[in-house]
Amino acid sequence: MEKIFSLAEHFISINGEGQHAGELALFLRFTGCNLRCSWCDTMWANEKNAPHTEVTIPQLIGIARDAYDRGIRNVTLTGGEPLLQEGIGELISGLITTGFRVEAETNGAVPLEKFMVKDRPVFTMDYKLPSSGMEGHMIKENIPLLESDDTLKLVCGSEEDLLRAYEVITEEKPACRVYLSPVFGSIEPARIVEFMKEKGLGGVRLQLQLHKFIWDPQERGV
Ligand code: SF4
Repeated sequence: MEKIFSLAEHFISINGEGQHAGELALFLRFTGCNLRCSWCDTMWANEKNAPHTEVTIPQLIGIARDAYDRGIRNVTLTGGEPLLQEGIGELISGLITTGFRVEAETNGAVPLEKFMVKDRPVFTMDYKLPSSGMEGHMIKENIPLLESDDTLKLVCGSEEDLLRAYEVITEEKPACRVYLSPVFGSIEPARIVEFMKEKGLGGVRLQLQLHKFIWDPQERGV
């Protein structure tokens, strides 16, 4: 049976996060999320039945081909939680075959093992810290699956979050890149830099969400 995806929006913009931050990408945002983070900035897309268009894989590949013809080589799958869409593995494979580098932004609460196949996306996986209210949902078994091209992103909104991020990094010893990212408006990026210095976090990077600085933090479709 043909897979139907709930597409909230699609647009071309720069990647705001991850290893290809600053590069143009086609964003495919899907509705539905299995978490409810206290500081979520896409709450409007989190219900499965949030405003969306129902699309098939050929339609999504068609959107991607149009972007490819305009010089775009990155596709970012986002949400909500994009990996909850039935058939997402098939879509990822189709996008890779079309010539894209595919990045999946995932929330740490979906098992990644089944996506570790030949045509796998690059993952930017969040680890939700205490201020999100969602840490209990984190699947720690995902962390050892992340490889050098993947990113583990710890989003910090408080001092408690910083300390917990430090514990996670030192206990789990991720093999992928590790980013600390501030919850916009909750903690100063300068405080995160201070913390990195205090703890000697030499292999960790500070990441700012570029979109929040370029556009209005509430702006959609950018
Ligand atoms: S996982 Fe992401 S989309 Fe879902 S509630 Fe948390 S921040 Fe929002």
